[in-house]
Amino acid sequence: METSQAVQPHIAILPSPGMGHLIPLAELAKNLVSRHSFSVTFIIPSDANTSHLQAQKSFLQALPDSISCVFLPPISFTDLPDDTKIESRISLSVNRSIPHLRRTLSTLHESGTRLSALVVDILGVFALDVAREFSIPPYIFFFSNAMALSLVLHLPELDEVTACEYKDLLEPVRLPGCVPLKGKDLPDHFQDRANEAYKFALEKCKKYQVAEGIIVNSFLELEPGTFKALKDEGWCRVPVYAIGPMIQTGSGSNSSSDCLKWLDDQPDASVLYVSFGSGGTLSHDQLIELAVGLEMSGQRFCWVVKSPDEKASNAAFFSVQSVADPLDFLPRGFLERTKKRGLVVSSWAPQNRVLAHRATGGFLTHCGWNSCLDGITNGVPLIAWPLFAEQRMNAALLTEGLKVSLRVEANENGIVDRKQIAGLVQKLIGGEENIGNKMRVLKDAAAEAWSKIGSSEKALGELVHKWIQV
Ligand code: UDP
Repeated sequence: METSQAVQPHIAILPSPGMGHLIPLAELAKNLVSRHSFSVTFIIPSDANTSHLQAQKSFLQALPDSISCVFLPPISFTDLPDDTKIESRISLSVNRSIPHLRRTLSTLHESGTRLSALVVDILGVFALDVAREFSIPPYIFFFSNAMALSLVLHLPELDEVTACEYKDLLEPVRLPGCVPLKGKDLPDHFQDRANEAYKFALEKCKKYQVAEGIIVNSFLELEPGTFKALKDEGWCRVPVYAIGPMIQTGSGSNSSSDCLKWLDDQPDASVLYVSFGSGGTLSHDQLIELAVGLEMSGQRFCWVVKSPDEKASNAAFFSVQSVADPLDFLPRGFLERTKKRGLVVSSWAPQNRVLAHRATGGFLTHCGWNSCLDGITNGVPLIAWPLFAEQRMNAALLTEGLKVSLRVEANENGIVDRKQIAGLVQKLIGGEENIGNKMRVLKDAAAEAWSKIGSSEKALGELVHKWIQV
């Protein structure tokens, strides 16, 4: 549905920090601007981390002209204890920016800008009330899947009926229409119920009903049972729009030529692409084990390496780039020994172009939802190696639900050992036929969802229709 009307509809988008949060929202903005003649203003909360801000700025500057940006003044985290969980830090960076958001909305209002919607992501739900203050319809962009949405909506009830920590549950958590979930696969910040991050999550769940709608980056055909249950069983009182997969288009990187040129020289479906997203990091021991495992597998690989971090699996989340040179942490002689069949890239690769390349035959992923969608859209079978946030749930969906993935298992020391890594890589690249076939079916379904009569195209059309009427 193309839009034609005199006044250009205008929406504002408030993303929480993190490239994985910004990328799908930027795709939504690009779609609205190019196909429906919208104007979009990004309102960007920022912390004092300049490298993170720089990464966001260069990304946003590359967007089309009808997408403008307002950077809110930086907020401070100096009062937070060192062990504050990443989910709390991200939510707080939005919460603490609310006075600045209010001023920006007020300035836009005074300049005559009429906003049809304020779209916030799931870590910024406290901003929904601010939109209401200005009579702007607020929407949530749920950057994960329908199963994670179902969990969030069920959390208050789950909290009430559960006496122990979720990881100690003897029976799986059964969400309507979803694959049964082991308690230990629930998100990281749900695993210590006395922690502030969990209490914060519970508080946020109650905010969902303030929204006019929830936009989910998944598609009906991927999670039919879950979407049906959300609609039919009354768990969600606000409309849900499944508009996925919204994945990054364009290169998004200047290191593209190296990677893609190298892939050009490799046989079809022979390379395992290895990446832990924009923020995922491994311990040094685990990094060594992965290197040796890849070497032992004898398969080709293209590995985006980040410097190790002993304390956090999400250490690069706010910075994206590794601070030290990641290649310095690889086993001695590794690069030389594997140079005929391996490429190691520091910190960032043009992921979607790598996955779309005919030489890529598998993807070892940390299961960030955008990466899962990247894999599905390109029909690349997966090895799931979840690290943090809701990634273990995503791994369960991919492995046990959709059956398009193999999954690593850590030993009693929390390490995924070299033998297991080598075995899984051989199995995947060696042609796990079932997984490959199932992934091809999902790839077609993803393309179909965005066809003229597809489910996601229709859902976005409904949203656009609502927004042009405001
Ligand atoms: N990405 C990329 N190159 C990289 C790593 C990540 O282009 O080397 C992109 C990827 O396509 C995805 C996003 O960054 O859009 C990562 O989001 P995801 O949800 O997978 O994980 P997060 O970074 O939020 O942990």
